[in-house]
Amino acid sequence: MADEGASRRTVLGGAALGLAAAAAPSVYAQSGAGGAGGALLKDPKTKYRTEPFPEQRQPWPALASKMNPRPDHGETSYKGSGRLAGRKALLTGGDSGIGRAAAIAFAREGADVAINYLPQEEADAREVVDIIKEAGRKAVAIPGDIRTSAFCSKLVQRAHSQLGGLDILVNNAAYQQSKASIEEISDEQFDQTLKTNIYAMFWISKAAIPLMQPGSVIINTASVNSYDPGEELLDYASTKGAILIFTKGLAKQLAKKGIRVNAVAPGPIWTPLQVAGGQLPGQLGQFGKETPLGRAGQPAELAPLYVTLASDESSFTTGTVFGANGGKGNP
Ligand code: NAD
Ligand code: MG
Repeated sequence: MADEGASRRTVLGGAALGLAAAAAPSVYAQSGAGGAGGALLKDPKTKYRTEPFPEQRQPWPALASKMNPRPDHGETSYKGSGRLAGRKALLTGGDSGIGRAAAIAFAREGADVAINYLPQEEADAREVVDIIKEAGRKAVAIPGDIRTSAFCSKLVQRAHSQLGGLDILVNNAAYQQSKASIEEISDEQFDQTLKTNIYAMFWISKAAIPLMQPGSVIINTASVNSYDPGEELLDYASTKGAILIFTKGLAKQLAKKGIRVNAVAPGPIWTPLQVAGGQLPGQLGQFGKETPLGRAGQPAELAPLYVTLASDESSFTTGTVFGANGGKGNP
């Protein structure tokens, strides 16, 4: 009987999904299902879309606004409760994906927010700036390429002076291109991946630390690849392994200054990076299916981890990693 009930619900859920999909593409499993903060319990297996994503490809760096379906960054669901009141945050890759979800959550928790992104991503960045302003917070947009030390230190200086301080740094930007074999990874790709993902983290952190007071935090975006590299992500996974150790080592150093350093390690999340070469061609349909929860995550599901790590409430948490990977991959 229990099984019968379960399969009946699945069929009904599927019918609702069919109607919703016909009306508008959605990341939600059923029309009416909400993101974080809803009063009703939601099954994590079916909270978001479980059917395959349509195959699609955008030129790098890709826009969230052109994805089908659009990711859920918590635009309509994230509710703050003053957990970051008066804080000053800089996020790289804050225009889209996980960085956007964290930026929205930070603003709704009461922080002023500066975002960095590439000039080609201005349209996505404008949406984030509008949401931060709607939350009644200061929004600072600082476009530019983080692959040079000179720009990274300029970025930090501008964020610090325009926000009037800096006490949350989120190193989140990354470059990811899947290649089946090491022979297909060009020197240019290898260089771009390392410069974006790990050199910039070093340069930006180095510039920010002297400006940060005790109680400040650095949060780095690691990955499930920090622990178990996807074989098609040799260069990217190498940077994510480095980010894990960079985080733990820097946490030891900065404990003396009262600055906490942690990381978030996501599993498969529906973001622009994935539709601009992040997956091998033909793989998007299966994206996220291998997780025990059986689906990809949405950026909105990561935002609470960044908020918690940034908040003074987690003052004994440093040198560690919060995972969000649908059930496997982290130690
Ligand atoms: P995303 O495409 O939304 O964000 C990546 C951002 O990196 C871009 O928006 C862009 O602004 C920025 N960026 C790339 N190159 C840059 C450069 N040279 N200069 C300045 N900015 C640059 O994708 P996302 O998935 O939200 O990625 C955010 C973080 O999450 C990354 O660190 C990524 O490695 C990590 N991550 C993502 C997944 C996933 O499945 N999506 C899984 C694990 C980890
Ligand atoms: Mg982007």
